[in-house]
Amino acid sequence: MLVALPRIDPARCTGCGWCIAVCPPHVLSLQVVDWKKRSVLDDPGGCTGCAKCAVRCPFGAIRMAKTTGAPASVRPVQGA
Ligand code: SF4
Ligand code: SF4
Repeated sequence: MLVALPRIDPARCTGCGWCIAVCPPHVLSLQVVDWKKRSVLDDPGGCTGCAKCAVRCPFGAIRMAKTTGAPASVRPVQGA
């Protein structure tokens, strides 16, 4: 099944946390990656594809992307 999941651009994400606050099922969290805090989709299976995180992000770091749901395909891509 094709669903839209958030793709978080690590280069744009400031770790402000707004997307985490608005996510209804709480599937996003802040994690430290390469010494920098940023948002990560913890549980792709729990994401409803509502896009509230993408709409809320003040830095345009999230875009919704169609995926088959394979976890590897929704992980943030370095330099994307
Ligand atoms: S709202 Fe945007 S910049 Fe802030 S943590 Fe979420 S993805 Fe990163
Ligand atoms: S699309 Fe909706 S459910 Fe999925 S991570 Fe963003 S706010 Fe949460």
